[in-house]
Amino acid sequence: MLKSIVAIQKINNDDAKSAVFKALNMINAEKLMNKDNMLVVLKPNLLIGKPPERAVCTHPEIVRSVIQWVKQFNPSKIIVCDSAGGQKPGVTEAAMRDSGIDKVCEEEGVECIPFEKTERIIYKVENPLELQEFSSSHLLKDADLIINLPKIKTHGQCKLTCCIKNMFGTVLLANKPKTHAQAATLDRFTSALVDIYSVSKPQLTIIDGFYAMEGQGPSSGDPVKLDLILAGYDGVALDRTVCEIIGFNPNEILYLAKAEQKNLGTTILSQIKFIGESIENVKRKFKPPKIRPVSMPLPKWLADYVGRTIFKARVKFNRDKCRLCSTCWTNCPVGAITPPELIKKGNIPEWNKSKCITCFCCVELCPYEAVKFSINYIKNALFSWMGLGLVGFVVLLSLIILWII
Ligand code: SF4
Ligand code: SF4
Repeated sequence: MLKSIVAIQKINNDDAKSAVFKALNMINAEKLMNKDNMLVVLKPNLLIGKPPERAVCTHPEIVRSVIQWVKQFNPSKIIVCDSAGGQKPGVTEAAMRDSGIDKVCEEEGVECIPFEKTERIIYKVENPLELQEFSSSHLLKDADLIINLPKIKTHGQCKLTCCIKNMFGTVLLANKPKTHAQAATLDRFTSALVDIYSVSKPQLTIIDGFYAMEGQGPSSGDPVKLDLILAGYDGVALDRTVCEIIGFNPNEILYLAKAEQKNLGTTILSQIKFIGESIENVKRKFKPPKIRPVSMPLPKWLADYVGRTIFKARVKFNRDKCRLCSTCWTNCPVGAITPPELIKKGNIPEWNKSKCITCFCCVELCPYEAVKFSINYIKNALFSWMGLGLVGFVVLLSLIILWII
């Protein structure tokens, strides 16, 4: 059986570049740079705007090293992309700035753009475990090479975030909490993670183990200077290797077995060929996080209902700012906005609530910031069948009590 390859390389004297180059050399990664004019997308972890010493985002020097490695092969374009963990437009830009990654991109002359600022398409998931489809950047389809740049961190919900979990960043802004709501149990959420990874599956992964995080990750744990780079093609095998290094039981990382079932990689150590340092040599036991459940343990039908109703956003068009350019219609993947023929006649766009899948393309891509969204959880709850039923029940109960007394 063909083995998955994992290179393990120590970072000596903070020389991240040399470690990244050595790790990529060990796995002959240059064979991926086999075409002229390649479009290469680098996907770091940009969870939230924190400086490198907090070990939340992929370290900027790791991003720089990978950019410099790719540049040797004269690609047509390198783009560094992610979508941060918040809901508000602008959070990814803030994460790019505060992590130091946009400065590195500027110095290296490459683009650094949020996924939500790129053209969106709907991706169908083959043999879905949980998600039938999701909306993400066209870059997942159009890139010649996607390089995953995850960071080793503990995670309060999934226990570990690294290769598989990092690709959740391809889900755009407010669609992340919506996915959490729909896939409301840890079991279902980890299935959703595997579905997302199966669509965006990167061809190459370079793990940032320069500064990792233990304890209450992924954003408020303790930084660990691990001084490691791991590289390979099989994200499942890489995540499995990380478990071995940091002393986590892989059976507790629910998405690993699911990814293996979906033929996305292997968790069997005997099927992994390790190159470079031995695992024994680099082991460092991590403090585990206190696990919090992803969400309420609701039955599937109820979780779907809550995701569709309570988390439903309202899209609003600002009459004073709108210039009737129809960009919102162009970017709406489901035709939920008034067509250009009507907009050009001077009509402010209108929004079709029942068609809208709340992807927020219209909000994020309006050149005049004329589209806003809001989620009124209380109103949504009250005007849902669940809310109306609850109100009806309370009224009925009150009438019965009044009648009795
Ligand atoms: S993209 Fe913005 S400015 Fe253009 S029509 Fe839509 S709301 Fe108006
Ligand atoms: S109307 Fe809804 S589906 Fe269409 S672009 Fe806006 S948020 Fe997305």
